[in-house]
Amino acid sequence: MFNLDKITRDNIKSLVAYSSARDEFSGEAKVFLDANENSLGSPLTKWYNRYPDPHQVAVKTALSQVKGIAPDHILLGNGSDECIDLLFRCFCNPSKDNVIICPPTYGMYEVSANVNAVEIRKAPLLENFQLDLIHLETLVDENTKLIWLCSPNNPTGNSLNRADIETVLNNFNGIVVVDEAYINFAKQKTFIQELGEYPNLVVLQTFSKAWGLAGLRLGMTFASKEIIAILNKTKPPYNINQVTQELALKALEEVGQVNDMINDLVDMREALAEVFEQMPTVEKVYPSDANFLLVKIKQARKVYEFLLTKGIVLRDRSSVKLCDDCLRITIGTEKENTILVDAFAEWFDQIQVAV
Ligand SMILES: *Cc1c(COP(=O)(O)O)cnc(C)c1O
Repeated sequence: MFNLDKITRDNIKSLVAYSSARDEFSGEAKVFLDANENSLGSPLTKWYNRYPDPHQVAVKTALSQVKGIAPDHILLGNGSDECIDLLFRCFCNPSKDNVIICPPTYGMYEVSANVNAVEIRKAPLLENFQLDLIHLETLVDENTKLIWLCSPNNPTGNSLNRADIETVLNNFNGIVVVDEAYINFAKQKTFIQELGEYPNLVVLQTFSKAWGLAGLRLGMTFASKEIIAILNKTKPPYNINQVTQELALKALEEVGQVNDMINDLVDMREALAEVFEQMPTVEKVYPSDANFLLVKIKQARKVYEFLLTKGIVLRDRSSVKLCDDCLRITIGTEKENTILVDAFAEWFDQIQVAV
């Protein structure tokens, strides 16, 4: 049975959260002389001299409407990166606990584990990029606190089988993190609606991909009220700055525009996949539920370097296990995609294979 109290670090359980004067006071004040801000203003036309809302009430209220989940099930982070780090800090004792990841996957889980001195155990995906549940199970011991699942997965682009994720949720006594950074591009539905079913489920999403706001740094964590409360008291109080809060609130009014971009990107992804499938030395275009394609091509590293000379940057995954000879290609604008396809044609000319 999942027992949140048992898996939370003792120092976090006994932590007294930072409390600002504005936490201690509720009501309408006229004069704010409590936070040592600059009362005279800012050297900008719009003033940012006041600390932002540490609880991001307005953003969470709007987000809760869009996502269909109450605000007390939401924690916002300075990018998903902060959400990832917070999970390590709240639940993993350095030099004692361990977590499981399923590579090839997003690199930040391992980096964050290393920063926090938490052991990483690896259950590589199967050849079909699905979970190896049998291997995964053998890695779990009493110090395993988190299992990181990324669906749709980066860099492979596929969604994990829903039934497999449910198996992990049902059989693991620690927290199962499902990173849904690319969920808006997927045919699969989100796990957010399953939070009532699984007390050990944490879902991560982000404003960096479908929402087109990578520069703002805004990540979302969805979980039980109890898990959110623990993350909340541990996070830096003002982790989401005023500008981000204001702009996110505006963006949340533009769900229609975001959905249009998602539809366009998915259409372009499918069109580009067909183009790559026709290319001579391309061995495989993996099915994608994300806003990128994983393409297996002969001499991938050489192709990557050739494209660099043309000023085109792809993500070289050719030395990653299970992704050998693979390049990860983000879907660009129509114009960028054309430039990319033309550059590939030049590559094939150069190595003298007929296009
Ligand atoms: C891009 C990405 C994120 C987003 O990270 P942010 O810090 O929110 O920009 C999270 N998880 C995965 C798997 C990603 O690929």
